[in-house]
Amino acid sequence: MQIINPATEEIIGQVAEDTEATVNEKFAALRGGQPGWGAVSVEERVACIGRFCDALDAEKEELARTLTAESGKPLQQSYNELNGARSRIKWLMEHAAQWLAEEWIVAEGATREKIVYEPLGIIANISAWNYPYLVGVNVFIPALLGGNAVLYKPSEYATLTGLHIQRLLHGAGVPENVFQLVAGKGAAGEWLLQLPLNGYFFTGSYRTGRIIAERVASKLVPCQLELGGKDPLYVMDDVADVEKVAAAALEGVVYNNGQSCCAVERIYVQEGVYDAFVRAYTEQARKLVIGDPMDAATEIGPLSRPGQLEFLLGQIGDAVGKGAKLVAGGNRVERKGYFIEPAVLVDVDHRMKVMTEESFGPVVGIQRVKDDAEAAELMGDTEYGLTAAVYSASYERAENVMRQVNTGTVYWNCCDRVSAGLPWSGRKHSGLGMTLSYQGIRAFVQPKAYHIRG
Ligand code: NAD
Repeated sequence: MQIINPATEEIIGQVAEDTEATVNEKFAALRGGQPGWGAVSVEERVACIGRFCDALDAEKEELARTLTAESGKPLQQSYNELNGARSRIKWLMEHAAQWLAEEWIVAEGATREKIVYEPLGIIANISAWNYPYLVGVNVFIPALLGGNAVLYKPSEYATLTGLHIQRLLHGAGVPENVFQLVAGKGAAGEWLLQLPLNGYFFTGSYRTGRIIAERVASKLVPCQLELGGKDPLYVMDDVADVEKVAAAALEGVVYNNGQSCCAVERIYVQEGVYDAFVRAYTEQARKLVIGDPMDAATEIGPLSRPGQLEFLLGQIGDAVGKGAKLVAGGNRVERKGYFIEPAVLVDVDHRMKVMTEESFGPVVGIQRVKDDAEAAELMGDTEYGLTAAVYSASYERAENVMRQVNTGTVYWNCCDRVSAGLPWSGRKHSGLGMTLSYQGIRAFVQPKAYHIRG
């Protein structure tokens, strides 16, 4: 499998793809290794993960450069991702013992009762490329802490990073027969679906997530899906500083070149501040520095996948064809690589794909709304349900809207953020199940009820 740098279109590596036979061999090895790992104390598992976390820091220069080379993520954002992953790992390490410990429900008397949390067994972690450390850590760290073995399938667009992750985990003391990487594309992922694994944890698109859910349904094992979004941001007319809100919204749209599951994908602005918001947003969007992602000054690198450029140009064309106005960007950048200027569309509505279909790029439509009721209705007019943000001076007013939206996460005066202490979950086509928080630790173990008499 060739690894292509999306900024230069050059081949930067070759990786041997797994075959069905090698995937089966890896599974057999994990079968041998998991019971031993499940018997290791949580403290020892935490110590291994702690060494992995330290290694991420010790090797951060090389890891960040690899991530930028294969995904096009601006180098500073690769460092940010590594730092973010380390703080998530630390949170999980600090809380694992508490949430994995056995629980006495009735500690005294003739019949005592307790719950013991046992590993699921061998789980599949089929992962995405946009934040390979962060979305990977959400799954393989609590899975390993809970005593599971992991068959890890990184995205074909983040395989070099996946190989680093495997090398560092093994170096930290996670046995080779407890964590194994499967290299390849969709077909390699499908081989995992055929195996009798004890859980499927997927991060990626709704399209693939649905296939996975259908294919593993008859196994009756846990299947968690962290999928896409079409996340709205609503600006109320009482905001104190429109320029500041525009800056926050812009960052939510273009960070990681818009390739975040919880990126802001559509903006609604109440009419009193609409013109000022569009002016401030557009001015700031035009100033973004597009260029070589290895360059420290670059804010917008290339898109990670070649097909995405045509897809975004198609969404922009569809909107303009239906009456939208392109007020900034939206052109392909004339240079090697998959570059597009951040695009701002106004006069948009929900007949246009840019307001309903996941963009996954630095493209946004800004729609004028009359009041909170209209905003809430439009925010909910989507098949997705990952996050929704409201900017307002009044928490009460914002909360009234946040209560109405059917999403796993809501934000007041912030957006595009994930916290290790809170459950990360999507509703509707944004997913099933959750990671992070204590619930994301418990997602990787199964309770056994003990009735103890005598
Ligand atoms: P994708 O669905 O194309 O691929 C994800 C993974 O599935 C890859 O490893 C791929 O090789 C594998 N795969 C593809 N076809 C398969 C099949 N038939 N069977 C088994 N595995 C298969 O998604 P992507 O392009 O890597 O990621 C982008 C999507 O992920 C976006 O929709 C984004 O919003 C979403 N995402 C969601 C979250 C979240 O936390 N909710 C986080 C990151 C990304």
